[in-house]
Amino acid sequence: MRSDLLPLSRYAVDRDGESRSHPDLLERLWADPATRVVIVHRGLVAVTDDGAALDLLGPADLAPLAAATDGVPPVPGAPLGPLGTAYLGRDTSAAYVLLVLSESEGDPRDFAGLPGDPGDAVVAGRTWASLREVGALLGDRDAGLAATAVALAAWHARHPRCPRCGEPTQPVEAGWARRCEADGSMHHPRTDPAVIVAVTDDDDRLLLAHAAHWPARRFSLVAGYVEPGESLEAAARREVAEECGLDVDRVVYQASQPWPFPASLMLGFRARVAGGDLRPDGVEITEAMQVSRADLAAKVTSGQVLLPMRASIARALIEEWFGERRPGD
Ligand SMILES: [Zn+2]
Repeated sequence: MRSDLLPLSRYAVDRDGESRSHPDLLERLWADPATRVVIVHRGLVAVTDDGAALDLLGPADLAPLAAATDGVPPVPGAPLGPLGTAYLGRDTSAAYVLLVLSESEGDPRDFAGLPGDPGDAVVAGRTWASLREVGALLGDRDAGLAATAVALAAWHARHPRCPRCGEPTQPVEAGWARRCEADGSMHHPRTDPAVIVAVTDDDDRLLLAHAAHWPARRFSLVAGYVEPGESLEAAARREVAEECGLDVDRVVYQASQPWPFPASLMLGFRARVAGGDLRPDGVEITEAMQVSRADLAAKVTSGQVLLPMRASIARALIEEWFGERRPGD
């Protein structure tokens, strides 16, 4: 399985990390009418009506916000207010900048963070979508831009203060780091590794599990976060044993995909049942089953099983085992 073909792993833009340290980079980009702006609002991205492309704006389109905030963008080192910005990279046609209109999740239409609600001019009339919904619909360039934009926005929102001393931090490096003014320490975006495992037995039946907090009938693969001091393979074995009671071996890496909800990197594995009895833990996992391909096709057709969304690596791993792209939808 190729990571670079997974919906949210695609990336067609040069991240151009070396430009991030130019102190006036964002000001120059905001002054350039050719700059394209990716907007994130409460965790959602602005997309075209069909969800197949990002709704990219130019700096001039954001004039209502500029008028209300004494100028978009807020620059690194300045108070962010309700807005945040970062440099996402460039390709042969444009440079791409992130603008975070609002950091918390919720309905984008109730934006009212600025006097006179100028954000409404930008928010209203746009289509806002979750990356989970449109990640598989977007093209390569936009999928990569959106995944990075959502991840960066979430990191800034969750890390406003210094983990050493508790003082507020300010964004630097064109939005790719935060610096504590009190002790000078630098802090970089976090990514939390999580393993997800396609477990099969000697009859090539696939292990599917239903998590307690999922909608009814949703089944997916066993997954969980890697603990400090643990290898990826050990995490995969532990999660399957803890959640479903099965011992596995032959843990083999397949592919990875960012899952920025808010900061996961999903690392996909296959593994083989070596012992134990199928026994959901009853807490995280309330139901589990081992299915043949025919079983799964029948359960999906009958509506007994809802598969993970197409943007997920879970879906890709299940379909790789199944041997077809669409065992129902
Ligand atoms: Zn500090």
